[in-house]
Amino acid sequence: MKKRGKDHIKAQRMGRIRDGGICQICGGSGHTEGHHLLDYQFGGKANTDNIITLCRTCHDKVHRGIMDVFKL
Ligand SMILES: [Zn+2]
Ligand SMILES: [Zn+2]
Repeated sequence: MKKRGKDHIKAQRMGRIRDGGICQICGGSGHTEGHHLLDYQFGGKANTDNIITLCRTCHDKVHRGIMDVFKL
């Protein structure tokens, strides 16, 4: 698998700062991480517009298809 570039890491960090480190689904501020709305593998851009901050729980649900981040 292709490694994430520096730009993506930077974009994730900037996205979390923009969102105040708060999960954009449940509002939790526990362990949050940046999620790519469009994965970089599918041409997702390495900028904050493509990043949403999610807690570990919601992030996991999004990736398992239980929760859809686009319906917010
Ligand atoms: Zn959450
Ligand atoms: Zn993700």
